[in-house]
Amino acid sequence: MKVIVIGAGVMGLTLATELDNRGVLVEIYERGCSVGDKACSWLAGGMLAPWCERENAPLAVQQYGKKSYQWWRNYLQKEGDLYANGTLVIAQSRDRQELLRFSRRTENFEWLDGEALRDLEPDLADRFSRSLYFADEGHLNPRTSLQFLVERLQKKGVAIHFNSMVDPKSFSQDIVVDCRGIKSKEDWNGIRGVRGEMLIIKTEEVTFQRPIRLLHPRFPLYLVPRKEGQFMVGATMIESEKRHSVTVRSMLELLGSAYAIHPAFAEAEIVETGCDVRPAFPDNLPRIKQEKNIWSINGLYRHGFLLAPIMAEKAANAILDQNYKLEQLYEYSCK
Ligand SMILES: Cc1cc2nc3c(=O)[nH]c(=O)nc-3n(C[C@H](O)[C@H](O)[C@H](O)COP(=O)(O)OP(=O)(O)OC[C@H]3O[C@@H](n4cnc5c(N)ncnc54)[C@H](O)[C@@H]3O)c2cc1C
Repeated sequence: MKVIVIGAGVMGLTLATELDNRGVLVEIYERGCSVGDKACSWLAGGMLAPWCERENAPLAVQQYGKKSYQWWRNYLQKEGDLYANGTLVIAQSRDRQELLRFSRRTENFEWLDGEALRDLEPDLADRFSRSLYFADEGHLNPRTSLQFLVERLQKKGVAIHFNSMVDPKSFSQDIVVDCRGIKSKEDWNGIRGVRGEMLIIKTEEVTFQRPIRLLHPRFPLYLVPRKEGQFMVGATMIESEKRHSVTVRSMLELLGSAYAIHPAFAEAEIVETGCDVRPAFPDNLPRIKQEKNIWSINGLYRHGFLLAPIMAEKAANAILDQNYKLEQLYEYSCK
């Protein structure tokens, strides 16, 4: 059996991996000239935070997110760009109520006082007196992770055609899986785009081992450490499909939260700014559908890395086994 996967974002690449593992001949078409060139996935923070995300996501995200996190660990732990160091959630003293609110909406964390926080992240010492620590979470570098999947697939003989913008309907003889993200919006009912802006900054003055989430009543933001002194600062959540570059307001909020986490970020270099549009359904949960020979997966919203592996497993099972009972994530949430 041959399956054509359209789109080499996190959804297309995890699906191709699952299909290839099951012995299926897979071919990928991607309009960008290289991995991530035109993918929303390239801009992600890479937080694998099923418990933190529960703050404003249905239970399905937590349950399936845990499984996806394990999937990434199986593939990437040895590659060195996946970190199982947990997540820290902090708030400035005037926003302390936010920490309490966050703790009521989540589970599987411990409260840390200033001293315990100092042990985990010395650079936060004396700046925050209380925090929530989600020890079982992790993070990855989305870019090296996507590159890893591409190289692994290519080594196994999977053809990836870059610079190839194709229409799923043009492959009438094969099974096709449409993983075009927001670009396939017109083929779905109810998909909207949620604009996300991010920055990458660089400094040798601050070191963190894990993502730091700074709570704020209006713009909660986070900072994810990467190699070579880099930090991804993200991400705005704006109900808009406009892709223009980062606005002044967003830049102020992103930089302001980095500065609030540590004033040494004032001297950091701004390495990159970016913006893309997350595909989302009204309940913010992804979907899989089939119409004749075309399967489609979409709506990963802010959980692309957190949910793509589990969506890939489900889709691969459904494509290969007509008797497989495909449970959508919203069905889980209705239980
Ligand atoms: C700023 C920001 C931060 C984020 N942080 C996180 C995070 O920390 N954790 C997390 O889990 N998620 C995060 N997300 C969400 C995540 O990035 C998305 O959910 C995910 O990227 C969606 O993946 P996708 O594969 O569906 O779409 P995409 O990544 O957009 O991939 C679709 C691919 O299809 C290709 N394509 C489109 N049309 C065609 C065509 N006709 N022919 C061929 N190819 C085509 C595109 O070029 C693209 O490469 C974040 C998103 C943003 C914007």
